[in-house]
Amino acid sequence: MKSSYNPFFTAQEQFDRVADLIGLEPAMREFLRQPMREYHFTIPVKMDDGTSRVFKGFRVQHNDARGPAKGGIRFHPEETADTVRALSMWMTWKCSVVDIPLGGGKGGVICNPRTLSEREQEQLCRGWVRQIARNLGPCLDVPAPDVMTNAKHMLWMMDEFEAIHGGHFPGFITGKPVGMGGSLGRTEATGFGVIFVLREALKELGIKPENTTASVQGFGNVAQYAIRKYIELGGKVIAISCWDFNDKTAYTYRKKDGINVEELLSITDSFGSIDKEKARALNYEVLPGEEWLKQDVDILIPAALENQITKDNVGSISPQVKVIVEGANGPTSNEADLVIKEKGIFLVPDFLANAGGVTCSYFEQVQSNTNFYWSKEEVLEKLDAKMTAAYHGVSEVARKQKVYMRDAAYIIAINRVAQAVRMRGWV
Ligand code: NAD
Repeated sequence: MKSSYNPFFTAQEQFDRVADLIGLEPAMREFLRQPMREYHFTIPVKMDDGTSRVFKGFRVQHNDARGPAKGGIRFHPEETADTVRALSMWMTWKCSVVDIPLGGGKGGVICNPRTLSEREQEQLCRGWVRQIARNLGPCLDVPAPDVMTNAKHMLWMMDEFEAIHGGHFPGFITGKPVGMGGSLGRTEATGFGVIFVLREALKELGIKPENTTASVQGFGNVAQYAIRKYIELGGKVIAISCWDFNDKTAYTYRKKDGINVEELLSITDSFGSIDKEKARALNYEVLPGEEWLKQDVDILIPAALENQITKDNVGSISPQVKVIVEGANGPTSNEADLVIKEKGIFLVPDFLANAGGVTCSYFEQVQSNTNFYWSKEEVLEKLDAKMTAAYHGVSEVARKQKVYMRDAAYIIAINRVAQAVRMRGWV
C-alpha cells in the first residue's frame, strides 16, 4: 500500500459520487458515508521472551440495517483505522449487492504475524476477542479471516468468545476449520466467485474463456483459487505477482506458456510468497513487481491488496486488456478508475467480484447457527447461483442506465441499504 493513500477517502468518494447520481437525501448520505460504530482498543500480549507488547486493535461496524455486521479481521503492519473504516463500508455494499441479510464490519490489528510465534499469535487472537466480545456475536457482528489471518486464528477467537459467554456459538465467527463449524467450500469461495462473475462477463462480451490469457496480482487465498477455476474454464495465466518478505518488494513470476498452480504452490509459503530461486529453477522469469500489470493479456485480476492500480501505473496497462476483475478490495484508485472507464475496459468491481467469500461465510453462519452442514457441491452450487444472479443484476443496471459497472453495483447496493434504513425508521 502506498503511504499517502487513504482507502477511506476512496470509499467515501465512490459513495458520494453515487449518492449524487441517485439523489440520496442529505441525512441518509451523512448516515451512510461513515461507520455507525467504531471500537479502538489495545491488546497486551505476553511474548515468548518474557516481555510484554501492546498491539493496537480495531473493529468497525459500518452499517447493520440489513442484518448483523459481517467482515474479516486483518493482521497487517500497516493497518490503519481508515483502512478498517473503508473495508467495513465496502462490506456493507458487498453484502447488499449479493443480497445477503448482513451488514458491513471489519477488524484489524497492527502487527506482523510473520514475526510472531504460534503462541503469541494465539494470545493476540484471544486478546482481540476479550476486548470486543460484548460487541460481537451471531446476532450482532460476525468476524472472519482476511489478509494474514486464517482458520486457526478464527478457531482461537471462537474458543475465547465461547469461554467468555459460556456456551457454543459457532455462528459467532466464520472461516473456521471444516469439522469445527467451518463450511466446505469456504476456502475456494472468494477465488471461485471471482471466476463465476468473470465467466458471466465473458459470456456477455462474446469472448470464449479458452481463448483468453490473464495476469494476476497476488498468490494468496483469493488468487490461488481464482487461477485454478479460470484454468478449469480453459484460460491461461501467464503471470502472477506476489510479495517477497525478505526483499520487502513484490516480484512477478512469468511463464508465457502458462503457469502451473500446483508447481508454484509447492514453492509458496502460507502467506502467499514464492521462493524466487526455486521459481527460476522451474523456468519462471522473475520480474519486477509491477510487471504483472503490463502484460499483453486479455484479463487482469488484481487479487493482492488495495491501491495497486494507480494514476502512475494505469497507463502501462496493455491495449490488449479487455476485462479487469477486482479480486482484492479497493485495488484501483479513483483516478485510475476514470482512466480504465475511458479506455473502455470492462471492469467487474471488487465488492461484486470478491463477494463469494462473504456469501459463503453467510452460508457457514447459517450452517453453524442451525448445526447442520451441507456438502461441498451444495455450497458451491448455491454460491454460483448467488454470484451469477448478482452479476446479472448489476450488468442489467449498467446496461439500462448506461453507467459504469462500479456505479451500477453501487446504485443497487446503496439503494438496498438506504431502503432498509428507511424501513426501520432510522432516517
Ligand atoms: P492473502 O494474504 O492470502 O494473499 C495476499 C497475496 O498478495 C500474497 O500472495 C502476497 O504475497 C500478495 N501481495 C501482497 N502485497 C503485494 C504487492 N505489493 N504486490 C504483489 N503481491 C502482493 O490474502 P487473500 O485472502 O488472498 O486476500 C487478497 C485480497 O482479497 C485482499 O484485498 C482481501 O481483502 C481481499 N479479499 C479476500 C477475501 C478472502 O476470502 N480471503 C474475500 C474478499 C476479499
